Amino acid sequence: MTSAAPFLLSAGIDWPADQSTPRWSLRADDGTRADQLLEPGTRCSFAVQPGRWCLGHTRVGGAEDWTHVDCPDGAPAERGTQCGPCLARDDARHMHDFHRSGIAPAGLRAYLAKPQWLYVATFAQGASKIGTAGLGNKWRRLAQQGAVLASYVALAADGRVVRVLEDLVTERLGLGQAVRAAAKTAGLTDPGQGGPSPSGVYDAGSLATVHRAQVERVHALLAEDPAATGLDVEPVDEDFTPSALAGPLLKAWNDGDLHPYPGWLSASSHGFTVLAVLGQTLGVRLDGSERLYAADASVLKGRRVVAGEHSTAVPVAQDSLF
Ligand SMILES: [Zn+2]
Repeated sequence: MTSAAPFLLSAGIDWPADQSTPRWSLRADDGTRADQLLEPGTRCSFAVQPGRWCLGHTRVGGAEDWTHVDCPDGAPAERGTQCGPCLARDDARHMHDFHRSGIAPAGLRAYLAKPQWLYVATFAQGASKIGTAGLGNKWRRLAQQGAVLASYVALAADGRVVRVLEDLVTERLGLGQAVRAAAKTAGLTDPGQGGPSPSGVYDAGSLATVHRAQVERVHALLAEDPAATGLDVEPVDEDFTPSALAGPLLKAWNDGDLHPYPGWLSASSHGFTVLAVLGQTLGVRLDGSERLYAADASVLKGRRVVAGEHSTAVPVAQDSLF
């Protein structure tokens, strides 16, 4: 049996550089955009089809000239969210290796010649990471990440220097360069993650202490380590301000009143009302419940979804326990 319902290819949550409302990025079969703005009160109701599909690749024509190209073949995803040919065509793939290999196409080389930000981000479960953001991508990069706290710690002369520093921070201080998306959402709702409170969870106050300590360790490294002091780097100390849309999620997390979404958005059918967005995490209301649930929307990347009337059931057993 085949379904005639038109599907949309989902590319996850996209935060705009102008700090306005994020969108659930959706594309129709013919390439037209069907994005859903995620304003508070937005209804999302859809069924997820099996499989994971290629999200295309990036063409970098110059420092400010990044173009997304849809997968010409509508192929299944083979690695991450790309098919083999799109991965091979992706100009941006050289970005993370350029400081070691020296290999990059001309457009990306122009981008990497510009100054870049080094940042420290800290997530709800207490994990911090070191990362980089392009000059014009300063706010958006961190908005996409979904950190609870983040600070820009340095402005490096170019894309090679910033990645040398990033590797140095990882090597010397043990700060990783990635936190899994699922862990970011789970850290907002799972108790017992090793935090300092009696219940084992972090709150805004204790997480701020952890974050500030990591920022200071990075600043000390930049000022004192011989491998860093010879580089063209300007230390900065500037906190990232998250979108107001993240507010209800962060408040519920701090109050210990945020609940894990029942099930996974990568399969089955779902219907809920969006109240808040933090990175790739949605804060949603279910029909018939006043609670705020945290759902990991990163798993919607590369999924085909079909709009329809659905309603996610409130987990009754859990509600009756408390
Ligand atoms: Zn492809």
